Amino acid sequence: MKIREVKIGTVKIGGDNPIMVQSMAATRTQDREATLKQINSIWEAGAGLVRVAIDNKDDVEALKWLRERTEANLVVDLQENYLLAEKVAPFVQKFRYNPGHLHHLQKKKTIEEKVEWLVNIAKEHDCAIRIGVNCGSVAPAFLEKYGDKDEAIIQSAVYHVELMDKFGFENFCVSIKDSDPEEVIKLNKRFFQLRSDIPLHLGVTEAGMPPAGVIKTRQAFENLIPDGIGSTVRVSLTLPFDNKAEEIRVGDQIVSDIQAGKFWNEKFQTDGYNIISCPSCSRVENEKFIVLAEKVKELTEKLGEKKMTIAVMGCRVNGPGETDDADLGLWCGPKTVNFKRGEESIGSYTYDEIIPALEEEIKKFN
Ligand code: SF4
Repeated sequence: MKIREVKIGTVKIGGDNPIMVQSMAATRTQDREATLKQINSIWEAGAGLVRVAIDNKDDVEALKWLRERTEANLVVDLQENYLLAEKVAPFVQKFRYNPGHLHHLQKKKTIEEKVEWLVNIAKEHDCAIRIGVNCGSVAPAFLEKYGDKDEAIIQSAVYHVELMDKFGFENFCVSIKDSDPEEVIKLNKRFFQLRSDIPLHLGVTEAGMPPAGVIKTRQAFENLIPDGIGSTVRVSLTLPFDNKAEEIRVGDQIVSDIQAGKFWNEKFQTDGYNIISCPSCSRVENEKFIVLAEKVKELTEKLGEKKMTIAVMGCRVNGPGETDDADLGLWCGPKTVNFKRGEESIGSYTYDEIIPALEEEIKKFN
């Protein structure tokens, strides 16, 4: 079946359109000048869409200001507060909701009622929607019903697509992201078998720092794009705040290599440390996050090979959940770093104390 065409402001994805590369601003959204500069640098690097993080009323005011000053197609990620859709829709071309976060607010309303509300807002403001499923935040009702996490993810995505069908809305795409490229390949292939008409947004979430982050992303894209899977891509790399346009250059390069038949066929090496780190965004609570991610990498290089996963996340929104599956997890608060072993908390440490504490835990790990 042919992939449906979806219009997002001045760009189209799906149909016969080329794969669109997109990215996200990492600046604080309320730092208006810096965010404007970053949006424009990502846009000028060739992005079709630039994402901005919006969490509150002041962010919405900043978004309004930004909208008046940039040509870029903008998208907002609704995270846990999907009610913000109403406030942001007049200023963006697309919004993303996470089916795994809809249960948090307005508990008396059904998921179906909430999605219908979101669809009506999108229709009113001519916005596209992304149904953004994330393996770190699967809808609890689906986990309970299916038991198996992969099945819950797929069924949740298909259910939301069916809701769009029911409400007569076609201007949407789906993403199913994980930090493990093999999961991204498996789940996107499975979804595509069920709904090959829906454009997919591909990405390996929290891929981490280059070069590992680039290898993980290539691994996923090389196994999906040749099969016609993927209408738009995001490369999520942990990079210095002023260099986010690099994600567009890397994304363009990967897509053009694949289309030219140039494959690296490189699998991410999981025999040693797997450092998962988020690409950072406006929600980062302390700018020391990027330096911290680099220090974790240096520490592991110093300590020598160990087969373990360490997650380093920039904020409290996704940090607590996205570190659960790692052997050791760090998520950053304004003044301290929260340290975890699996789902269990070890404690919180200052940015100066955390590396020695991490070293000690790594040494204990077998
Ligand atoms: S973990 Fe937090 S700071 Fe990092 S990209 Fe996700 S939302 Fe942004």
